[in-house]
Amino acid sequence: MSRIGIGYDSHRLVMGRPLIIGLVHVAFDYGPEGHSDGDVVAHALTDALLGAAALGDIGRHFPNNDPRWKDADSRLFLTHAVELLKHAGFRPVNVDAVVVLERPKLAPHILTMRQALADALGLPLDAVSVKAKTAEGLGAVGEGRAIEAHAVAMIETI
Ligand code: MG
Repeated sequence: MSRIGIGYDSHRLVMGRPLIIGLVHVAFDYGPEGHSDGDVVAHALTDALLGAAALGDIGRHFPNNDPRWKDADSRLFLTHAVELLKHAGFRPVNVDAVVVLERPKLAPHILTMRQALADALGLPLDAVSVKAKTAEGLGAVGEGRAIEAHAVAMIETI
């Protein structure tokens, strides 16, 4: 049996924080404010995977007032979500994400992100898609004050 889940995340961008997107460090002067590393793609994908199995959300499994997750590597969120799926009798099939960011250009990093996410999820590269868009100058994302990501995940019974 197949099931599908959706995920979304956004973070404010502030000067001097590392910019981590899709488990990859992208050189830039601004990065996401947040309790964890603020990786919007990893967080949206984690919520999509949890959502597909109706296992709650990232805030329930990784509360942002828990010091264990302070500046946490978001790879942990993904690998833990896959473990939770396994316990519930599911495995990921494929995932797709859109990251919305005005600058910098992400095209040179997309393949590296897909590879890192595929590794974390135990999926082949062709089952992991990441796409990047700008917000065309509109709103907080368009003004360079925020980053956001949308994701879907398909899972199937083991
Ligand atoms: Mg987040």
